[in-house]
Amino acid sequence: MLDCLLNEKERAFRDEVRDFVKNEIPSQAVRDMDTGNLESGRWFVEKAGALGLLGPRFPAKYGGRDLNWVSDLLANEEVGVLGTSLGCAYAMPSIVGEALNQFGTEKQKMKYLAPTLAGKLYSAEALTEPRGGSDFFGATTTAVEQGDVFILNGEKRFVVGAQDADWFLVYAKSDPNASSHQSISCFIVERSFGVDVQNIYQLMGTRGGGTGRLVFNDVPVPEENLVGQLHNAYAVFNKMMIPERLLSAGGAIGAGRAALEVAARYSTRRKAFGQTIDNFQAISFMVADSAVLIDAAKALSFVAAKQADKGQDARRMVSEAKKVGTENSWEVLNNAMQIMGGIGYTTVYPIERLLRDGRLSMIWTGSNQIMNLLIQHGYYKELDKRAGLTRDVEEDALNPEQSSEKHFG
Ligand SMILES: Cc1cc2nc3c(=O)[nH]c(=O)nc-3n(C[C@H](O)[C@H](O)[C@H](O)COP(=O)(O)OP(=O)(O)OC[C@H]3O[C@@H](n4cnc5c(N)ncnc54)[C@H](O)[C@@H]3O)c2cc1C
Repeated sequence: MLDCLLNEKERAFRDEVRDFVKNEIPSQAVRDMDTGNLESGRWFVEKAGALGLLGPRFPAKYGGRDLNWVSDLLANEEVGVLGTSLGCAYAMPSIVGEALNQFGTEKQKMKYLAPTLAGKLYSAEALTEPRGGSDFFGATTTAVEQGDVFILNGEKRFVVGAQDADWFLVYAKSDPNASSHQSISCFIVERSFGVDVQNIYQLMGTRGGGTGRLVFNDVPVPEENLVGQLHNAYAVFNKMMIPERLLSAGGAIGAGRAALEVAARYSTRRKAFGQTIDNFQAISFMVADSAVLIDAAKALSFVAAKQADKGQDARRMVSEAKKVGTENSWEVLNNAMQIMGGIGYTTVYPIERLLRDGRLSMIWTGSNQIMNLLIQHGYYKELDKRAGLTRDVEEDALNPEQSSEKHFG
C-alpha cells in the first residue's frame, strides 16, 4: 500500500529481501527454531550477509547499500513474516551497527561493523539486566578502568544470540558517582574475552535465537573497544533506539500481514452453513479491521522512517510507530486466529507461532509503557512550541468568558 510513496531504490531493495525470504529460507529451519532443534539465527544472518542484505542504510564502504531508514524498515517488514526470532537476527546488525557507524572509530568499523554486515561475525546487544530493563540507566554491570583495559563485572539477561554471538555490544556503569545519564559507557565485548553464558531461556515464542543470560566475571575489555566517549553512552543509546524500535515495528507489521493473508485466504475456502465464511460480515469485517490496522501502522512507521531519513528528531514518531506497529499487529494476529476457528489454534497453521512471537513485541526494545512515556514527553514539548501558532479553539466555547470557572486548582 505504500508503493506510491517509495522511490525505485527503496522498492527494489524491498523486493530483493522479499524474494530472499520467499525463496531462500526453508520452512524446516523456521520450524526447527520453534521446536528447539536449532538454537541460533546465525545461519540466517550468514545467508543475508553474503547477499549484502544486512544494514542497507550503512555506507557501502562497510558493506551496507548506501540506502536509508525507509529501506531498512521495509526490509524488516519482509523478514518479519518469518517471526520475531529471525526478525531480531536480521535487525541486530542494523541496531548494533548504528552504534558503531555513528560513534565507532574507523578501526572498530573495519574490524566489527564490516564483517558483521557481511554476515561473517554474529552480533548481539546486552542492555537488560536481571535487575531490570526499563530502567536502563540504573545499570549495575560495572566497567572499571585499569591501565589500558576496562574490567567488566555483572550480568545481562534476555540477550538474543547469547548462545553463539561473536561479539556483544554491552552497556556498563563506568562512573557510579555521576548522574545516571553521565555514568554509563558502551563497549564491544568479544565472546572470547571471557563472557560466560549461564542460561538459555525456555520461551513462549521467539524461540531458537539462543536467548540467554551473560555473566561477566572480571572480563578485560581493551580500551580501544570503548564505543563513543567514556561515560557518555547516553548518546549511543539514544541513537541505537531508533533502529531498535523502528525495526521492531517493521517486524511486527510483517508478522501481522502474514497472519492476515493466511486467515483471509482460509476464509474464502472454509465453508459454514453452506457458504464460505468470508460471506459473513462478522468475518469479512475482521479482515477489513485488520487491513486498516496494518495499513495505519505501516503509514505511521513510514513517517517515522522519513523523519529519521531527513535527520530530524524522530524519537516520538519512532516510539509511536513501535507502539502502534506492535499493538496493531497483536490485534491482527488475534483476529487471524479467530477467523481460522479451532484450526488456527493448532500447529497445522503458523498463526499460533506468530501469535506467541507477537506477544513479545509489546515488551521488548522498550516496553509499550516506556513508549508512552516518551510519546507524552515529546507531545508536551511540541505543545509548548505550538502555543500561539494555531487558532485558540478555547475561545469557540459557548461561554469562554466565564474565566472564574477555568480554575486549575
Ligand atoms: C525473548 C526476549 C528477548 C530479548 N532480547 C533482548 C536483547 O537481545 N538484549 C537486551 O538487552 N534485552 C532483550 N530483552 C529484554 C527486554 O528488552 C526487556 O524485557 C524489556 O525492556 C522490559 O524489561 P524487564 O523485562 O526488565 O521489565 P521491567 O523493566 O521490570 O518492567 C516490568 C513492567 O513494568 C513496566 N514499567 C517499568 N518501568 C515503568 C515506568 N517508568 N512507567 C510505566 N511502566 C513501567 C514495564 O512496561 C513492564 O510492564 C529481551 C526480552 C525477551 C523476553
